[in-house]
Amino acid sequence: MKVKFSYLEEQFKNPEPIFKDIKKLVKSGDFTLGKEVFEFEKQFAKLCQTKYAVGVGTGTDAIRLSLIALNVGSGDEVITVPNTFYSTVEAIVTAGAKPVFVDADDDYNINPNLIEKAITKKTKAILPVHLYGCPAKIPEIIKIANKHNLLIIEDACQAINSAINKKKAGSFGITGCFSLHPLKGINVWGDGGIITTNSQEVRDKLYMLRNNGLKNRDECAIYSYNCRLDTLQAIVALHVIKDIDWITNKRIENAKFYDEELSKFSQILIPERARNVKQVYHTYVVKAENRDELYNFLLKSEIEAKIHYPVPLHLQEASKYLNYKKGDFPKTEEQVKSIITLPAHQHLKKGQLEYVVKKIKEFYK
Ligand SMILES: *Cc1c(COP(=O)(O)O)cnc(C)c1O
Repeated sequence: MKVKFSYLEEQFKNPEPIFKDIKKLVKSGDFTLGKEVFEFEKQFAKLCQTKYAVGVGTGTDAIRLSLIALNVGSGDEVITVPNTFYSTVEAIVTAGAKPVFVDADDDYNINPNLIEKAITKKTKAILPVHLYGCPAKIPEIIKIANKHNLLIIEDACQAINSAINKKKAGSFGITGCFSLHPLKGINVWGDGGIITTNSQEVRDKLYMLRNNGLKNRDECAIYSYNCRLDTLQAIVALHVIKDIDWITNKRIENAKFYDEELSKFSQILIPERARNVKQVYHTYVVKAENRDELYNFLLKSEIEAKIHYPVPLHLQEASKYLNYKKGDFPKTEEQVKSIITLPAHQHLKKGQLEYVVKKIKEFYK
């Protein structure tokens, strides 16, 4: 039995309804900032319980433009985590600011107790990542941010439709940043991103920043970027967003099944699941004894396990100039040695989940 990590084949098995809308687009020629972009922004803001949303080219752009819109750049420091996808840090660096890492907690997210130690006179913002679709400890982070007058920008790229006390990810910070990459919660046929905010001022700045810094066709207020969300991708996103609750619930159901079955193994450690937190399981990650051997065993059994992510960012070549060293973030460094990602996507059948558990049992026996 094959258990794949990707679900794109199943998800877009019947693309005809999307093709129909794209045909209309091709006839109208409304390829850039067409009406579907604004319609998707409206629906996405509603989903995230924010007033506004602004479609951009990628999730990376969403973070970078947020920083630029909030005047975070040269000479500023931004606090984030070393265990994230490269883009989080890439956006900080390309916006001109310096990333400052804070170690993870047992929930794999930023440890709020370590944030204050990392704050300096230059700190402008905290950029928590809702890793694996689990919201970071936002109430604690808000307290610290308020005390030190810092901005919060959420990297919610993995966390569409997740929530704390029913309040959605992307609605806590001054902006929330989302990716529409093919393997994210709402996915398009290429690249896309979107930013949520409750500030009209920030929204208007983002409208400008994504569109060459233009105030209107003939007036440029600021040299910026061309990173709009394509109308074509917005059409795809409008089809997918209809299913978002089904997608989320299915993943939660699959994660519950794994949690129940895998908690029977002493060799597997499942992170604590806070009751007031709605995780969307962008990836299902647990700690496992003899991780490398288990990983290889699962691959041999045609189960596409993964490791998110094997090398933390402070130890990447690109981070050399930041002068971090091995041992600086012990929790993260310990986690990367034992974490494993199991396929948990919305198109898996019960039999496939059972097969994964059966193989893990076989491995540890
Ligand atoms: C996917 C992702 C991004 C970047 O999104 P892209 O659309 O690929 O640019 C940023 N941060 C995190 C945590 C992500 O998972």
